[in-house]
This record gives sequence, C-alpha cells and structure tokens, in this order.
Amino acid sequence: MEYKPISGREFPRFSAIKTFFRLPHVEVDADYDVGIVGIPYDGGVSYRPGARFAPTKVREASSLGRGFHWSRGYNVLEQKKVADIGDCPTVPIDQAQTYEKIENFFSTLLQYNKKFVSIGGDHSTTLPVLRALKKKYQVPLGFIHFDAHLDTYPAAWGCEYHHGSFVRHAIEEKLIDPKKTIQIGIRGPLTGKDDLDFVNKHGIQVITVDDIRIQGLEKFILQLPQFSQGPTYLSFDIDCLDPAYAPGTGTPVVGGLTTYETQRILRALKIDQLVGADIVEVSPPYDTSEITALAAVDTLFELLCLL
Ligand code: MN
Ligand code: MN
Repeated sequence: MEYKPISGREFPRFSAIKTFFRLPHVEVDADYDVGIVGIPYDGGVSYRPGARFAPTKVREASSLGRGFHWSRGYNVLEQKKVADIGDCPTVPIDQAQTYEKIENFFSTLLQYNKKFVSIGGDHSTTLPVLRALKKKYQVPLGFIHFDAHLDTYPAAWGCEYHHGSFVRHAIEEKLIDPKKTIQIGIRGPLTGKDDLDFVNKHGIQVITVDDIRIQGLEKFILQLPQFSQGPTYLSFDIDCLDPAYAPGTGTPVVGGLTTYETQRILRALKIDQLVGADIVEVSPPYDTSEITALAAVDTLFELLCLL
C-alpha cells in the first residue's frame, strides 16, 4: 500500500473524496506509521458549540496541504507512512459513553504501536486520550499545552468534565507530570483565581503572550525547555491564536498569538519522544473564509513533522 496523497494533477485539489491531506483512508491496524484521526464531539463546550464538525472541515481544507517543509528541507508525507484512520466513534448526547469510546479507540491504536494526531472535538476529548496513553506508557507524560486558557477550572454546573477542566483532571489522575508541563499562549481574563492557584501549586510553567512578545520571539524560542525525558504529548487548542487568526472557536480570547508565532514555536520544540498530539476547539460554524480550518491544517502539518 502506498501512503501518498492523491495527485493534484490527476484529480485537481477541489475534487476527489476528502481525507486528511488527500491521504489513503485505512483501518486502525493497517501498516501506517502516523494516523490522523477525527474526534467529532463537542458535548464538553460551555459557550459556542460546533467543534464536532471540525474533523470534516479540516479534511476539506487540507486538500490544499502539501508535504514538503520549507525550513526542515524534507517531505514529511514521503518520510513517513501517514494515513487518515477515520473518526473515533462518539455519542453526541452522552459524555461518559463518549469518553469510554475514545479511550478504547486510542488504546487499540496504541496496542498497534501507532503514533497519531487527532482533530477534535472540544478540549474535554483530550482527557480520555491521555488515559489511554497512561495505560500504555505507565508513567505520567510530559505535556506541551498551547491554549489561551489554563483548563484547570473547577466543576461547572456541578459537572466535573468539561472543556475547561481537563488539565486539572489530568494532573489529579497523574496522567501528566506537572513538572514536565508547559502552557503556552495563556492570557486573561480569568473567572477567578482558583485555576491560577492550581497551576502555581503544582509548579506548572505558564507562558503568557507577554512572556513571548515583550522579549521578542527570537529570544523566547531559545529559552524553550527540552523534552528529553520520557513520553511527551502535545495538545494544541486553536484558541491560543488570536481570534483574528482563528475566529472559529468556542471561547475566543483577544490578544493572542499569530499563526506565524505558533509555527516558529512548533519548529523550535525539541521533543525526544513525542507519542501523540491533538488540535482541538476548531468550530467551523463560527469560522470565516476557512481561516481557522487553514490554521488547523498548517498546525497539523507542523505536528506531523514533530512526530
Ligand atoms: Mn483548552
Ligand atoms: Mn482554550
């Protein structure tokens, strides 16, 4: 089986059935290296819904995606066998069942020793993925978290599991190691001080937009920590970007990063053992001219290179 995108000369990029990067759609146990998978669930959203439509939209927008990385000097789609492995099953009206299905799906994928990038879904979908990874690797993971929000919020409406609380649960369940966790792109305002107290108590490194901008990007990327110990996971909430660069998202916060800044940060990361990654909170109904979907496609491309 050849893991190549459909040729744009044979089938122009606006044609053919949509898969991520026009790659073959295969079963989870096929002989690919990296699977791209959708998690179409947004039942954990507290404000604007729509992230359930992201996998389909990102597939469509990725028709224009190409594999050769300008600054890395190689074609990631030729170096590795990358495939679209479809969508993880979900239950739109039941979070507990959805979490179970996500954890089972990713446990199966990990049994076959696959790497993956998933396209969410709201950020609550990352928690069951981390549970599956913990079962596989048996140690708390290093964690690189791009977001406007800390996602360490308390329960909301009496519900523990929502898109603003997954980091708190991931630490309490010892799925990620707070000492090997960084959060990038964080900015205010916050509902209260609880979430900040939580990250301070656990010694999580929080990098705000000010921390990047005031000294300048070039200086900042030299200070990024190296992830050289143990398995590491990367989660990219599209709202780390300014709403000008990602309007289609559930809880936009102004004063964010640009797509260029996140590209440069992703290229500068040194991660010895990246075991998986996700892009979450893309909400196509709130998108304009596919700006957000295209940002997700480019981030997906950078993540494939990191893997
Ligand atoms: Mn988030
Ligand atoms: Mn967020």
